Amino acid sequence: MTGYPLSSYKGEKVDVSVGNVSFSKDSFTVVAGPCSVETEEQILKTAETVSMLGASILRGGTYKYRKSPYTFSGLGDKGVEYLKKASIKASLPTVTEVMSIDKVSYLSKNVDMLQIGSRNMHNTPLLKEIGKTKVPVILKRGYMATIEETLLAAEHIAKEGNQNIVLCERGIRCFDDSLRFTLDLAGAILLKENSKFPVIIDPSHATGKSNLVKPLCLAASAAGLNGVMVEVHPEPRKALSDSEQSLTFDEFADLMDSLSIFTKNKNKITRSVGD
Ligand code: PEP
Ligand code: MN
Repeated sequence: MTGYPLSSYKGEKVDVSVGNVSFSKDSFTVVAGPCSVETEEQILKTAETVSMLGASILRGGTYKYRKSPYTFSGLGDKGVEYLKKASIKASLPTVTEVMSIDKVSYLSKNVDMLQIGSRNMHNTPLLKEIGKTKVPVILKRGYMATIEETLLAAEHIAKEGNQNIVLCERGIRCFDDSLRFTLDLAGAILLKENSKFPVIIDPSHATGKSNLVKPLCLAASAAGLNGVMVEVHPEPRKALSDSEQSLTFDEFADLMDSLSIFTKNKNKITRSVGD
C-alpha cells in the first residue's frame, strides 16, 4: 500500500453513458460479442443476435494483444469498419480495445467506447491520452494489479478530465493454474465500494472456459455489480481467438434468460432483429 486510504477514491457515483445505454445503479449492462472481429458476416450475425437477446453494447477486438506473434492479431481498421456497420444494423453501441496512443483519435471517432486491456492498465501515457478525450472507456484491471493500483490507473484518466470510466475485473494471476486466471469477485465488490465508477466483470477472459461464464455472471448480478462483458461467437469452435471461452448463441440466450435481463432493465427498449 502506498498509504492512500482506499476511501480517498470515493465520490459521488458516476453514471457512465454510452449512446442511450447507461451503466447506472438501476441497470445491469451486458457487453457481448466476439473476441475478435473476423469477417463482416460474423460480426453482423453476432450483433443482430446479441441485440435481440438484450445485450446493450457490442464488443469486438480489432487491434488485439496476442501472446504469440504467430496467432491472429485482428483485422485492424478493416475490423473497425465491419464493427461500425454491424453497430448501425443492430442498433448497438460498440467497444473495442485501443492499444496505442496513435489510435486513440481514430478509434474514438469510429466506436462508442474504448477499452484499455489488462496489459495496458499500467500504460500511463495511454491512460492520460484517453483522459484528454470524453470518450467512455472500459478500464480492465491488470492481471497483476492490486485494487489500489487499479483505482489509481482510473485516477490517471479522470485527472485529465474524463470521468466516463467503467472498471472491469477480468481475473488475476495466482498460484492455481487450473483456469486461465482467477476471477477476483471480492476484489470487484471492493472496487465498487471504494470508487465512484461503475464496475463490471469479464468472466470469459477470467476463466477461459465457456461453462463458467453463466454462474459468474449470476454471481456478479447478485453482488450488485453494474454488468458483465462476455464473448459470444456464431461458431466458437472455429473462432480465430479465445475459442474455448466463447458462448454459442444458444448459450448466450440461456444466460440472458437466467439474468432476467429484460425484467431487470425495465427502462431498456426491447429490440428485435432488423429494427
Ligand atoms: C479482450 O477483452 O479482448 C481482452 C484481450 O481482454 P484482457 O485485456 O482482459 O485480456
Ligand atoms: Mn478474447
